[in-house]
Amino acid sequence: MNYKSTRNDTISISSAQAIAQGLSHEGGLFVPEKLPVITEKDITQLCGKSYKDRAFGIFKLFLTDFTDEEIGDCVTKAYGDNFDTENIADISHLLQGTYILELWHGPTCAFKDMALQILPHLLTVSARKTISDKEIAILVATSGDTGKAALEGFKNVSGTTISVFYPEEGVSDMQKRQMATQEGDNVFVCAVKGNFDDCQNGVKSIFTDKDIARELDGIGVVLSSANSINWGRLCPQIVYYISAYAELLKNGEISFGEKINIVVPTGNFGNILAAYYAKKMGLPVNKLICASNANNILTDFIKTGIYDRNRDFYTTISPSMDILISSNLERLLYHMSDGDTALINNWFNSLKETGRYEVTDNVKKKISEEFYAGYCSDAETKAAIKDCFESYSYLMDTHTAVAYKVYNEYKDNTGDMTKTLIASTANPYKFGAAVYEAVGGSCDGLDEFTIIDRLQEKTGTVIPQALASTKNKEIRFKGVIERDMMAQTVMNFLKK
Ligand SMILES: *Cc1c(COP(=O)(O)O)cnc(C)c1O
Repeated sequence: MNYKSTRNDTISISSAQAIAQGLSHEGGLFVPEKLPVITEKDITQLCGKSYKDRAFGIFKLFLTDFTDEEIGDCVTKAYGDNFDTENIADISHLLQGTYILELWHGPTCAFKDMALQILPHLLTVSARKTISDKEIAILVATSGDTGKAALEGFKNVSGTTISVFYPEEGVSDMQKRQMATQEGDNVFVCAVKGNFDDCQNGVKSIFTDKDIARELDGIGVVLSSANSINWGRLCPQIVYYISAYAELLKNGEISFGEKINIVVPTGNFGNILAAYYAKKMGLPVNKLICASNANNILTDFIKTGIYDRNRDFYTTISPSMDILISSNLERLLYHMSDGDTALINNWFNSLKETGRYEVTDNVKKKISEEFYAGYCSDAETKAAIKDCFESYSYLMDTHTAVAYKVYNEYKDNTGDMTKTLIASTANPYKFGAAVYEAVGGSCDGLDEFTIIDRLQEKTGTVIPQALASTKNKEIRFKGVIERDMMAQTVMNFLKK
């Protein structure tokens, strides 16, 4: 199976090329030419398998230029003891017919691990098949979770280095600490004076700088991305929705062919797009519910068909969703417009020039048939955490709480009682201060470790080992730079 670009019809490349390259040269994203189909029989067969074997089966459908050995090796390295549960993604029951898919049992306690534990292996196999012996230099702009998850995924993977930039004021203390204490010989971390979009723009301009590319080529280095536009990030995310469905079926929670809703706290639109792909492949899914925080550009878009980034940017207590450019939306628009690359080019040129585009009525209608969208303020997020903990003794993080709140609103508005899976994207201790305040604590004057100790005492839940252990680790990266210093800083690291 080959991959096409959302902006150029004539491109058709293998999965290894799509993963090694990340982004198409003209700026488009790679999408599968034709989605593979999974039947009810296929899903039933997955029921008896481990997460790793389910992943193997699904990867085989998408990565047709990989051998079985290569896929097997990648999934074995990715989904093992580095997760703190044998199931890799556990499902918790909140109440009758509402399930929480816990995607945060990996080494950094956020859902990005689900993809970033396997991406380095997919990428090194892909590079071997396509660009041979060059060293791969990964550049990442992060609003917090991607950076740490990418660092953990790539640390000490031979033939790779990784450089991560994060907004100095845009991540939680724990996220900062997790990144600053990162171990590994091939890693670099730096804070930037600016917001997430500044970091992302800085990284993008390094990628498109011809002088930098030439200079790096001279020392045998090629740049690549681990951001969620890479097909190697999306594909692993499709796996857990299909796996979760198989798990619910196996446990008798749903019956054969029964449709479920999926709720996803959304930023860059990667996670929810993976759920859409699972549905398009044949997974019985009713509505996809897209939940945003105060940066509610996607809510407006799904309701009006107008994407308009000319608006204020808010720093919220769910910082991994503080995004005004949801890159993966481009893939959805490509599919919804039946692969009309001319339309995609129009819209994204318009976004670049005016910060805005409006899709056709047809596309707007199709999107509203598949998706429901809502958003939630910080105060509502905290109230949701409190409500859920008091009602069900289940402690959610701030991102998951946004999804929970929007889902409750959806149920109230529509009366839809379809069984529902809520994607839980981070462990609550990762955003300990906001969660502690939500359940009635006060963080005044407390450092992040005291806060999580208090949260543990107050709620009787357990601090994950991966977070507790950062306390005694050495701070290795203290740098803070101006926006315009990103290129030079990366080059200094890469030329060392
Ligand atoms: C990245 C992230 C999200 C947003 O996911 P997208 O794929 O960018 O929509 C939500 N919650 C957490 C905790 C995250 O780290």
